[in-house]
Amino acid sequence: MNNTILIAGGGIAGLSIAYELQKRNIPYLLMEAGPATGGVVRSVQQDGFTLDAGPNSIGATPATLAFLKEIGLEQEIMEATAAGKNRFLVRNGSLHPVSPHPGKILSSPYLSGAAKWRLFTERFRAARPASGEESVASFVQRRFNREICDYLFDPILSGIYAGDPARLSVQEVMPFLPRWEQEYGSVTKGLMKNKGVMGGRKIIALRGGNEALVKRLQELLNTPVRYNCRVTGVVRGAEGYMVQYEEDGQTQYTNVNRVLFTTPAYAAANALQELAPQAANALQQVYYPRMGVLHLGFERTAVQQLPEGFGFLVPHAAQLHFLGAICNTAIFPSSAPEGKVLLTVFTGGVQQEHFFDEMDDSALQQQILDELKVLLQIRQPPVLQRFSRWEKAIPQLNTGHQRVREAVQNMERQFPGIYISGNYLSGVAVPAILQQAAVMADRIGANK
Ligand SMILES: Cc1cc2nc3c(=O)[nH]c(=O)nc-3n(C[C@H](O)[C@H](O)[C@H](O)COP(=O)(O)OP(=O)(O)OC[C@H]3O[C@@H](n4cnc5c(N)ncnc54)[C@H](O)[C@@H]3O)c2cc1C
Repeated sequence: MNNTILIAGGGIAGLSIAYELQKRNIPYLLMEAGPATGGVVRSVQQDGFTLDAGPNSIGATPATLAFLKEIGLEQEIMEATAAGKNRFLVRNGSLHPVSPHPGKILSSPYLSGAAKWRLFTERFRAARPASGEESVASFVQRRFNREICDYLFDPILSGIYAGDPARLSVQEVMPFLPRWEQEYGSVTKGLMKNKGVMGGRKIIALRGGNEALVKRLQELLNTPVRYNCRVTGVVRGAEGYMVQYEEDGQTQYTNVNRVLFTTPAYAAANALQELAPQAANALQQVYYPRMGVLHLGFERTAVQQLPEGFGFLVPHAAQLHFLGAICNTAIFPSSAPEGKVLLTVFTGGVQQEHFFDEMDDSALQQQILDELKVLLQIRQPPVLQRFSRWEKAIPQLNTGHQRVREAVQNMERQFPGIYISGNYLSGVAVPAILQQAAVMADRIGANK
């Protein structure tokens, strides 16, 4: 029996925890099911374009920037241009700039008069906080109205989770909303008192693609990653745990006294089914919808209505075939060759997943392209087109997610030495995952 901690999963979570354990002199062995690390972080160079099929930008906190500096990536950080502050929403076939400034909201045609009224009178509405977990849609419709949910919150949540506000838990994905209702009796009052809450982050990307983070972390690891090594089961062993894994198609076993899962929830569920069926059943409930990422490169002159900003989001109610797009070249000009522009378009997620059943990938791409042509007045065909599919993309923190957290905590108490850390627990954004890595390594270190 050795004291090595077996880490299942070599995405950003697994790699960053391995790195943090190494810093604390805790031995680890990282098993990755696939032939490469990185999970959903994947960058490709094509015809002078830098394409990211996973995270395109990182909302870096000071701690994220310090971490990137610590691992030697400081020179690779690209900060978004000033245009990155501009965001757009689509309604009635047009792009509308988004601004939290009350005067700009009032003068914008994006929301109806009724919705504006509900927005500006929210502070006078009596607070009646829900007793338990509530969906974002239920919360927003209670405090504001349906239109504000459909045209503001729906696209914002699409941009982060590709999720459905009727299912996402407000306590999980926007915990400050119920907190402000509790503390100040109103969300808008809370917003005024906590103006900094949305800021304090720098939008960055890494030169050559965000996979640079994966490559760098892997370079720093002293223990080689075991590729093509899928953890499939854990049972109690003579002293600690016996882990079953498939390596290059062969079933193998190893005895360890500590195992950490950084895999998606469903993979941890499969491996833990025998040891901890209750936790496994809860983990199995975490839903990962399919998503598609369409990279489109154009001659700059071909796109007549290219928004000068981070990108645009599409409310589900607009009935287009995509959730939104990032205007990569507006924020990171080096992502395309001189004279060209790059758009990264997202499709699928909870509310659009059915497109993958209704049409094949090429028909879906053509449909998206046709809709974009009208929206952005595109006059020439793309010079670059690349489509990536994620069969299980982003975990949905839907109502009921609290039960998953509780089941994980109970299991960790019942089975000392079994740990779970995943983006469905830490938050899905890369900075949250990096932050959680240090917390988890400290926890493991404390239980040495
Ligand atoms: C399309 C898309 C766009 C995104 N955009 C952004 C963005 O702009 N900004 C941002 O901050 N975040 C973004 N995210 C979220 C962020 O990228 C992810 O939350 C994060 O990368 C997940 O990392 P992870 O290590 O937790 O999981 P994963 O990346 O899923 O890695 C899990 C790893 O575990 C391995 N594995 C699975 N089963 C087993 C097993 N049984 N045994 C061993 N290994 C196993 C997998 O092969 C994989 O390598 C995006 C995500 C997606 C999908």
